[in-house]
Amino acid sequence: MSERERASVETTIDLDSDENVCPACLVPFSGLPERCPSCGLRLQ
Ligand SMILES: [Zn+2]
Repeated sequence: MSERERASVETTIDLDSDENVCPACLVPFSGLPERCPSCGLRLQ
């Protein structure tokens, strides 16, 4: 993984955004649930 890609992953979850994407399964969701609704990855 290049540094550019790593930075992209780290900014995937934006607490100020209503739209987020799970960094593990890339499923989009609104807001920031405690766990990804798709794969269950802990987001908080
Ligand atoms: Zn997920």
